[in-house]
Amino acid sequence: MSSAQQVPSNNTRRYQLFIDGKWVDAESGKTFETPNPSTGETLAEVAEGDKADIDKAVAAARRAYEGKWSKMSARDRGRLLYKLSQVIEQHAGELAALETADNGKPIRESTYIDIPQVIENFEYFAGFATKIEGETIPVPGQMLNYTLREPLGVCGQIIPWNFPLLMAAWKLAPALAAGNTVVLKPAEQTPVTALELGKLFQEADFPDGVVNIVPGFGETAGAALASHPGIDKIAFTGSTEVGKIIAHSAADNLTKVSLELGGKAPNIVFADADMEQAVSGAMMGIFYNQGQVCCAGSRIFLHEEIKDEFLESFKARVGRIKVGDPTNKETLMGPQVSSEQLDRIKSYVDIAKNEGATVLAGGCPPQLDADFQKGFFFQPTIFTEVKNSMRVAQEEIFGPVTSVITFKDEDDLIKQANDTIFGLSAGIWTKDITRAHRFARAIKAGTVWINTFNMFNAASPFGGYKHSGYGREMGKHALELYTQVKSVWVDLSGKPMGWYGK
Ligand code: NAP
Ligand code: MG
Repeated sequence: MSSAQQVPSNNTRRYQLFIDGKWVDAESGKTFETPNPSTGETLAEVAEGDKADIDKAVAAARRAYEGKWSKMSARDRGRLLYKLSQVIEQHAGELAALETADNGKPIRESTYIDIPQVIENFEYFAGFATKIEGETIPVPGQMLNYTLREPLGVCGQIIPWNFPLLMAAWKLAPALAAGNTVVLKPAEQTPVTALELGKLFQEADFPDGVVNIVPGFGETAGAALASHPGIDKIAFTGSTEVGKIIAHSAADNLTKVSLELGGKAPNIVFADADMEQAVSGAMMGIFYNQGQVCCAGSRIFLHEEIKDEFLESFKARVGRIKVGDPTNKETLMGPQVSSEQLDRIKSYVDIAKNEGATVLAGGCPPQLDADFQKGFFFQPTIFTEVKNSMRVAQEEIFGPVTSVITFKDEDDLIKQANDTIFGLSAGIWTKDITRAHRFARAIKAGTVWINTFNMFNAASPFGGYKHSGYGREMGKHALELYTQVKSVWVDLSGKPMGWYGK
């Protein structure tokens, strides 16, 4: 049993850094605590990585890349990734429980969505390791020109707290399938499952140093990773604000960057929509994962004609959402991830009220049992009388708060829906197939859902337009983020180059 697995008697879990296949303390000896957001109690004490540890991890990742990993056949790499997916499956229950304890998301979400999608991503990219191919280019004359698609080398990956293990999988799976090595920095609020994954990489027999996991804070460990001259690529998911900082610091080393940032998705209901389907889609759009979703449908656009009918049903159904203990299988909403996020949500409720919006539902924390009074809970909240220009409709709140805006016709709708700095996703509810596809073309966003919302698959690309970032994760597009193309020219004539004569 590695030291990372020790569970002390007071039940606080302890984790070290995972560098070069070993569990080690931070060079500084510092640690930080991660709370369980439903009770406020400490869940784990975690080694706090810093620049010195990032340096060690990058050096280990480089050695592993230049050593065993780049010499391993694609088939063996694929087999290792597939083995990992099976090992994760064997530990699925435990991982789901830990994800819920660290992040607060309902156990039915971690069990039926997060962990299965983690497995799906590793499985999917395991199959890709042997299918990364170059091409032959039809150049003129007695020449052969072909391309090699090669890995980048060492990749830094910085991930957020909203889908802790799933965000690790989205980044690790394609990077490793393509033959890179990785230094991963999980979010300070939710480092636990990423560190558990370190143990599973060991169990699956990955060579030392191929994956290194360094928890710590963004301003120290994260910044050291993003600005490290020894990495070939940095991949980031998180706020647009930090995404810009990452892009700036990567620019100094010309490090390749991919960014998956914030969103303020329009979720649009036309008068001809199936009302029950649209109401359930609006709920899935904004209350899933406590609204802590970058592609959340946080702007609900209702056609004037159906506004009253929709809101009556929406309010009634939102009132029945069970908020509370996330370990209860019936719970649909757990706590927000941290007290900071809870405060941010409360501040936006005040902002919305001051801007003239009306609270139709929620707007404050719920009344819960004594056990959960220190948790970071908030009620599902609906604002009506919102104008698209208001801050509540323009800024990412990242909580269970939606703004209802009305529209008159399609032109008016497209103008409002696109009037945002973001462009991550959008939803539309209509039975008119031509309108649905017209909308899919007109909206400036990386994903469009028609009569559905928050659908994902490892094979389907995801990423943003505008300030929602650049690069596409998942699907074959993700391999473009983790490979580079080499063009190889071969003379077939066997003759000297004639240009300079004899
Ligand atoms: P964040 O600061 O952008 O955090 C994302 C990741 O970046 C974390 O691992 C973070 O480390 C790291 N980081 C922070 N500052 C950094 C820096 N200067 N250099 C390198 N890495 C850095 O997001 P947050 O503060 O957790 O949440 C704030 C807001 O961001 C949310 O309210 C939401 O609007 C947005 N957000 C968006 C997503 C998304 O999926 N698009 C996810 C999470 C949050 P630490 O954990 O130590 O901060
Ligand atoms: Mg935590």
